[in-house]
Order: sequence, then C-alpha cells, then structure tokens
Amino acid sequence: MLTTIIYRSHICDDVPVKALEDMVAAANHHNRHENVTGILLFNGTHFFQLLEGPAESVTAIYQHICCDPRHHNVVELLRDHGPSRRFGNVGMELFDLRHYDRDDVLQSVLDKGTTKYQMTYNDRALQFFRTFVEATEKANYFELPPADSWEFIPEETALSVQPEVVAPGADCSFAFQPIVDPFMQEVVSWEALIRSPGGESPGAYFDALPREELYERDLKSKQVALSMASALGLQDQTLSLNLLPMTLVNVPSAVDFLLTAIEANGFVPEQIVVEFTESEAISRFEEFTSAVRQLKSAGISVTIDHFGAGFAGLQLLAQFQPDRIKINRDLIMDVHKSGPRQAIIQAIIKCCASLEIQFCAVGVEKAEEWMWLESAGISQFQGHLFASPRLGGIPAIAWPEKKFGF
Ligand code: C2E
Ligand code: MN
Repeated sequence: MLTTIIYRSHICDDVPVKALEDMVAAANHHNRHENVTGILLFNGTHFFQLLEGPAESVTAIYQHICCDPRHHNVVELLRDHGPSRRFGNVGMELFDLRHYDRDDVLQSVLDKGTTKYQMTYNDRALQFFRTFVEATEKANYFELPPADSWEFIPEETALSVQPEVVAPGADCSFAFQPIVDPFMQEVVSWEALIRSPGGESPGAYFDALPREELYERDLKSKQVALSMASALGLQDQTLSLNLLPMTLVNVPSAVDFLLTAIEANGFVPEQIVVEFTESEAISRFEEFTSAVRQLKSAGISVTIDHFGAGFAGLQLLAQFQPDRIKINRDLIMDVHKSGPRQAIIQAIIKCCASLEIQFCAVGVEKAEEWMWLESAGISQFQGHLFASPRLGGIPAIAWPEKKFGF
C-alpha cells in the first residue's frame, strides 16, 4: 500500500547548512533502495518532508529520521494512503525555499510533482505544502528545549511525610494525586481516586460490586474520600471527587448526602469539585442537569473528565458547560510529536477560552508533553511527571527546575 508521511522539524544549531546536500545524497541512496521517494523543503530553520512508498519502508525510514540528531522537534503532520506518488521522479530532492521568489515558490515546488496532484488543491498533502511554504502556521511551531533541560525532583512537604491513613471498616480506600500549576508552583486541587482496601484500581473495585449497588457505593465512597482527606489535613485545600453521572440521577438525595459528608468532615462546598467520569452515556440528561444545578447552587464546582475520549465529547459540552474540563491522556500522549493532537488540543483550548471554562491536561508523563502543552496555553496538569497517586497519602510533588546551563 502506498503510504505518505509528512513531518516538520527544526534544524539543530550546530548543523552547517552546507552539509545538507551531502546528508540528502546519503539518505537518497538508502531511500531508493527502499523504493521511497518524496521531497524535502528547507526554509533556513525548518525542514518539511514528504515521504512516499510502501508502508513498512516509509514507517521504518520515518522512525530513523525521528532519531536523527541533526534536527529536533519533529512533528508528524500527515499519515495517509493514496493511489499514486506525488513526487515519484527523483529519490528525495532537497528544495531550498530561500532560493526562490516568494510569489512563485509554491508553484516551483509543485512543478516537481509527477502526477495529476500537481493541480489538485483539495489534496491534503499539497495543502500542507502551501501552509508550510506560506508560513501561515508558523505561530504554532513551538520550539521546545531538550527534555533534559529540566529536572523533576520530588519534594517532600509536611503533608507528604505523613504516614499512610486507612479508613477503618470501609470497603474502599483512596489514593490522592495533585492537579498542579507548575509555573506558580501551586496545587490546584487534590483528586481522590478510588481503590480497593488493598490498593487495587477503580476498575477492580467497581467490577467486584453487584451491578445494582454500583451507584450507591460510588456515592457512599465519597464519605470515605472526605474523611481520609480530612485525616490527611487537606481542610484548606481544594478536593476533586469522581462520580458517575448516573450516580446523581439514580441515588435519591445524592446531593444532600454529599453536602452532609462535606460538612461532617470540616470542608465547605466551595472547596469541592465533582468530576464526571463519563464512562457511560448520560441517558437521563434532564435529571442529570437538574442534579448538576443542585451541586452548583450549593457551591460545588463541576468538571467534565476524560474530555475527548468516548462519550465526554463535544455534544456534552454543547448541552452543558462545566467550570473545568480535563483533557484525556489519549490526546495528551506524545502531543509534542503529533500534528493532529496539537490541532485538536489547540481547538479545545480555544473553545474553552471562548466559554471561560478552565482546562487541565491529565496523564502528563514526559517533559516534552508538558512543555508543548504549557506553550499552547495550558497551565494546569496532572500526571506522573509531577506526582503519582499515593494510596492513603499525599505524594511528594516534583516541580520542574531548569537545569544549570540551559
Ligand atoms: P481519572 O479521573 O481520569 O483519574 C486519573 C487517572 O489517571 C488515575 O487512574 C491516575 O492514576 C491516572 N494517571 C494519573 N497520571 C497519570 C500519568 O501520568 N500516566 C498514566 N498512564 N496515568 C495517569 P486510576 O486511579 O486508575 O483511575 C482511573 C479512573 O477511575 C479515573 O480516571 C476515574 O475516571 C475513575 N475513578 C476513580 N475514582 C473514582 C470514584 O470514586 N468514582 C468513580 N465513579 N470513578 C472513579
Ligand atoms: Mn478524575
């Protein structure tokens, strides 16, 4: 199958531009052998390359290219399949945009094409050429420093050195993980994540319950979360609690139960955030929104969790606007390398900004992910990079520190 990959990258400072011709000649030798063709554009700072050929060869060459130390910030823009090559004549031609007149540079690139694509402006690949040549997307090229220019060293605090607390007699326990603002070095909120008493995952805990008790137990467990949070001394912090949306609908007086538990453990509703973990479609939407109105009237904030995954999508946001959304890990993962993820996250940010909804990125594991997200305008993060959940306790937080010399 004929596969096309397009990527963009940034030349490393120490690579002399003169060396490029040799580099391309060497690569060409290999590409020809693999039956991979394409074109490489260079604008003095950035590369933009289209690779075409058999799927395995293109993928293998692209993986190799990603590891090349002569460039960095490699972002995959397109991966697609088509009937014929766009640039099939030459192995891999280097096209230096600086040697052409601004007005006809795009046409000069397209003249290198070998097929009817030459004039087919509805071809996605050729539209990527246009945006690169015309530099219309340049504001979105975030030049990230290397991942190892930051250090993440967990810092113990008075809260984190406390011994583990247990909830005596309870059939569940909780792990706590912070949502952080690394720039301000502040904890935005502590999320309580349900566990079995032995520390097993939420999935394991809920799967072991009889189906008909699910919602009731989900709600009741929040009393345990609040009492553990209280025992850990989080009374002056914000606390995030997860609930299935149908818990509020199916359990009578659920909001009153929550309010009682909040007060009994020394919290006020304004400190509490309820995150709706949208694992099931909200079937009784009217009743759900009515319960949300009760939460909001009492002072509790509302978050849509797992935004961008499955049900927690655009339609939900069109029908009801929360105080915050949490962008799901599936979208966050390797965002620094993926054009589609970058475009989607930027659209989510823009949408939230228009609606004055706060947003947070969940599941951040790599320094590059955090740097890209921070550059895009996200300031709140949750993930192993900063702190992993700790069962019955408060984890130490690793705040990013710029390393000396960077
Ligand atoms: P969630 O609300 O999105 O919680 C974050 C999940 O991501 C947690 O998984 C956490 O351990 C994990 N996580 C955090 N940082 C990272 C990271 O950097 N990388 C990766 N790979 N994962 C990270 P956990 O604790 O297994 O919880 C899974 C889900 O279970 C939660 O997702 C939430 O939807 C649900 N859940 C947790 N507690 C409750 C609860 O009390 N009630 C209900 N209904 N659902 C709950
Ligand atoms: Mn959550």
